[in-house]
Amino acid sequence: MTPKQLILLLFTIIGLTGWLTTTLNLLPSTITFTLQITSATIALLTIGYGAIKNLTERIFSMDLLATIAIIASIISQEYLSATIVALMLIGGEMLENYAQQKSTNAIQKLVEEQPQTAIVIREGKELQINPKEVQIGETVLVKPGAKIPIDGIIQKGHAYINQALITGESVPAEKSEGNTVYSGTTIQQGALYITATAIGEKSTYGKIITLVKDAKEKKAPIERTADKYAKYFTPAILVIGLTVFALTQDIMRMAAVFVIACPCALILSTPAAIVASIGNAAKQGILVRNGETLEKTSKVNTLVLDKTGTITKGKLEITDIQSFTPKYSSDQILQYAAESEKCSEHPFAKAITENATKKGLNISHPNNFEHHPGLGVSINKDETTIIVGNTRLMQKYAIDILTCPVQNYITQQAKCTVILVAKQQTVIGAISLSDQPRENAKNIIAQIRANGVKQIIMLTGDNKTVSDNIATTCEIDEVLSELLPADKVNKISNLKNQGLTVAMVGDGVNDAPALAHADVGIAMGLSGTDIAIETAGAVLVADDLTKLPQLLKIGKATMSIIKQNIAFAIAVNIIGIALSSQGLITPLMASIIHESNALIVMINSLRLLKIK
Ligand code: ADP
Ligand code: MG
Repeated sequence: MTPKQLILLLFTIIGLTGWLTTTLNLLPSTITFTLQITSATIALLTIGYGAIKNLTERIFSMDLLATIAIIASIISQEYLSATIVALMLIGGEMLENYAQQKSTNAIQKLVEEQPQTAIVIREGKELQINPKEVQIGETVLVKPGAKIPIDGIIQKGHAYINQALITGESVPAEKSEGNTVYSGTTIQQGALYITATAIGEKSTYGKIITLVKDAKEKKAPIERTADKYAKYFTPAILVIGLTVFALTQDIMRMAAVFVIACPCALILSTPAAIVASIGNAAKQGILVRNGETLEKTSKVNTLVLDKTGTITKGKLEITDIQSFTPKYSSDQILQYAAESEKCSEHPFAKAITENATKKGLNISHPNNFEHHPGLGVSINKDETTIIVGNTRLMQKYAIDILTCPVQNYITQQAKCTVILVAKQQTVIGAISLSDQPRENAKNIIAQIRANGVKQIIMLTGDNKTVSDNIATTCEIDEVLSELLPADKVNKISNLKNQGLTVAMVGDGVNDAPALAHADVGIAMGLSGTDIAIETAGAVLVADDLTKLPQLLKIGKATMSIIKQNIAFAIAVNIIGIALSSQGLITPLMASIIHESNALIVMINSLRLLKIK
């Protein structure tokens, strides 16, 4: 409670005592009169001070309306009205604070619930330290009931982990050696030795905190409109009120107009809904950066999806490894590829390095690693460049791919993605990989359509045959394949230029520019690439595509609630002004109606918490 609120509460008690004692004839009239006039004066001074301060900054605030209403009440000796008007103002302020507090609390809670300690194994001993001091690659021990302090991969152990905070899923996940675990999740049963892969702000939990903090800062366009409206509202009401007084000479009518017209409900209409929706989405594993994202989400009519890792699982399986010269075995081809891919985050790279590790191949650290987005990778080894990627990457390096064995192989493997491995300007081998669409991809696409999206497009850097196949299976309208990251951006610009509202869903580094360009950028999974997450307006934390129709639904519901709120708030104001100017509403009734108006807007907004 602020000092101002405390003073106002005090005067309210004095005022109400005065009113009660007068009505019940309990005390001599001089005392009751003093009580009431004291209360009204304190109200006038506290609220009037704020109003004058605002006026000097040329702001016509609600305090000004309230001050005039209080003066009018005192002149007409309606002291109770003065008290109630002031009470209404505190009530409104408290409601607003409450809405704001609620979102601040959510962040506070997240920060407070941050894991405080980590047990690392150093020189064979268990050492309790601050999670921020854990080094990447160190082993961390997490005991039953404890929160996992870092992101990592399970080295040893088996556990049931509650991941509700990250995925919104309350059924514990069973995890063991080789599985990935996220910071902020809790071990319910079992103990784990974990190799740390991300710490502090870079960890999943750290990223969530950053995103949630961001969510509060930027206002949605509709919110700015409401604010602007409220700004003009006050001077307009001032004029209306004074006109009513000039015409009727009835000071109580003017006071009632001022009270009922305060735009409290209007000001609350948008933030209350947005706070509720962002909170609800977060509980379901959807992080929404701000209200603007929600507003734009509600208008999306065109959805652009990346293929690898978005429509498909991004868990690639190596179906074939081929050597084109007797000089190298297929294991050597795999080894060259794995070494080149060691530093890449691409799903292909993961599949290749994992396969090589499984086969017991020794992968040394690469020199001069270079990533070519949408094409592949290259490194230096044995005094030559090793190039691993698609045909376009080979062309970029002027490597001949038109030789018979290479062409035959590509044709034969048309249903797979073929990654070529070149050394000394010659293609020496190839690896074929295949990826499956996510289980319910087709179903999800149908749900997306049901949420008002007219056009669904897939953009991919992969080859045409593979892409067309997947698009047909999932019933996607249009496919553009063999694209570079810049081509994806161009396509999105084109769609936007046609006046369409475009959402883009992607996962990789190569998708980051496109995510930033779309009206709404949606990143798949927090384990995805940092840049993709930083540029996205929303993140589907659990890497679960079923959350996509959910997000669209929440966006639409939010906007419809906001519109209801605004319409309702304005309607009550207008009707209220009309009735007050006719003398049909007293200032007392006006303040009750006014306060109910704000309350109804709040309650209506809370409905958004229930959308599943
Ligand atoms: P998508 O748009 O489907 O997510 P990308 O743009 O990430 O695909 O990749 C496009 C193509 O570039 C891939 O099909 C592959 O041929 C090649 N490529 C990209 N990154 C790599 C990599 N790390 N190793 C090998 N090839 C790669
Ligand atoms: Mg991708």
